[in-house]
Amino acid sequence: MSPEVHGRKRALITGGAGQDGWYLIELLLSRGYDVAAHSRRQVESEIHGGRVCWHTGDLTDSIFLDNLLTVSAPDEIFHLAAVSQPALSWDYPLETAQLNALVPQRICEFIRRNNPACRLFQASSSEIFGDATSELQDELTRANPKSPYGVSKAYAHHIVGAYRQQYGLHLSCGIMFNHESPRRPLNFVSQKIAHAAAAAGLRLTETRELDERGRPILCGGKLYLGDINVRRDFGFAGDFVNAMHLIVQNETASDFVVGTGQSHSIAEFCEAAFGVVGLDWTKYVEIDQSLVRKVDNRYTRADFTKLRSELGWHPKVLFSELVTMMVQERMRILEMALQPDRHIYIGPPSRPQTEN
Ligand code: NAP
Repeated sequence: MSPEVHGRKRALITGGAGQDGWYLIELLLSRGYDVAAHSRRQVESEIHGGRVCWHTGDLTDSIFLDNLLTVSAPDEIFHLAAVSQPALSWDYPLETAQLNALVPQRICEFIRRNNPACRLFQASSSEIFGDATSELQDELTRANPKSPYGVSKAYAHHIVGAYRQQYGLHLSCGIMFNHESPRRPLNFVSQKIAHAAAAAGLRLTETRELDERGRPILCGGKLYLGDINVRRDFGFAGDFVNAMHLIVQNETASDFVVGTGQSHSIAEFCEAAFGVVGLDWTKYVEIDQSLVRKVDNRYTRADFTKLRSELGWHPKVLFSELVTMMVQERMRILEMALQPDRHIYIGPPSRPQTEN
C-alpha cells in the first residue's frame, strides 16, 4: 500500500540490527511509521514486537541494494549500516570503502533516478575530523580523517552534500560523535569498561567475554586498556536517534553535528563505571601498550549549536547516567549468565561496595 493510501510514513533503516538501529526502530514505530530494516543476518522476526519488515542481504551487492530500495519504497531512509569501528577498518580497508563510501553514493543515485521525494539521513562521524586542532568541532571544521573508517565516512559525507546541492534532494548528514548505550557491542571500549566494572562489582576476577587480544576482558582481576588519556564526547544513542529523526523532518536538508559538547577521558569513563559499583578504578585498570593505537584522535568535543538552535535538540542523558545504565545492564547480563558458572565467582555480590 502506498503511503498516500494509508497515511503512514515508510522508513527504511539499514544497519537496523545495530545499536542505533534498535533505538531508531523503537522511535519510528512509536511515531506510527511502517518500518523496514536491513541486516546481513537473519533477525528474529519477533524482535520489536514483530512490527518490522526485515530484509537480509549484502548492501554492497548493487542488485540487492536496488531491489531493497525498490521493494521497501521508503519515504525516509536512515542509512546506518557501516563497518563502524575505526580500528577494525584497518583490518578491512577495502570492504570499509565499499560499504561506508560507495553504498551511500549508490543510495543517492537511486534516490535521484527513482524516488526523488525520498529523504535520506546519512550517518556521518566525528572521525572525519581526524585529530582536530580546534577545541570544539562543528559543521565547518575541516575534514582530516586518519583511518579507512574516517576517510570512507568523509567521502560519503561530501558526496551526499554534493548530491544535495547538485540535485536539490533532501539528503542530510548527522556528524555524530561517540554515542553509547547498553546495546553497544563489547568490542567498543566503553562497553568493555562497563563490562569489566560490572564483573568486578560482582566480585568476579575473570570474564568469559574476550577482548581484542583474545584474553578475558577482566583477566586476573584487571582490565587492560590502551591510551586512557584520549578524550571523547560521549552521548547516549537514544538521544542521537531523536536527532536523526528531527534532521530528516526539517524542511531543509543540511548537515548537523550531533554531540553533547562535553568531553571525558577514558580514565574518567573508568572512574565513573567502577564508581557505579563502589570500586576504585585505579586498582583494576592496567595499560597494555599493544592496545595503544598508532593513529588515534586524541580529543573530540562537539559544538552542536546549529542542531540546538535550528531544531531544538539537546542531549537528555548525562554522562554519569549513561555510564550507570551501561554498568547496571552488564551486571544484569552477567548475573544471568553466571548461574551455571559459579566457579569463577569469588564471593557474594556486595553492592554498593567501597574499597579499603
Ligand atoms: P553498529 O552497532 O556497529 O551497527 C552498524 C551495523 O552495520 C551493524 O549492526 C551491521 O549490521 C552493519 N554492518 C557492519 N558491517 C557491515 C557490512 N560489511 N555490510 C553490511 N552491513 C554491515 O553501529 P552503530 O553504533 O549503531 O552506528 C550506526 C551508524 O552511525 C554507523 O554508520 C556508524 O559508523 C555511525 N556512527 C556511530 C557512532 C557511534 O559512536 N555509535 C559515531 C559516529 C557515527 P548487521 O551485522 O546486522 O548486518
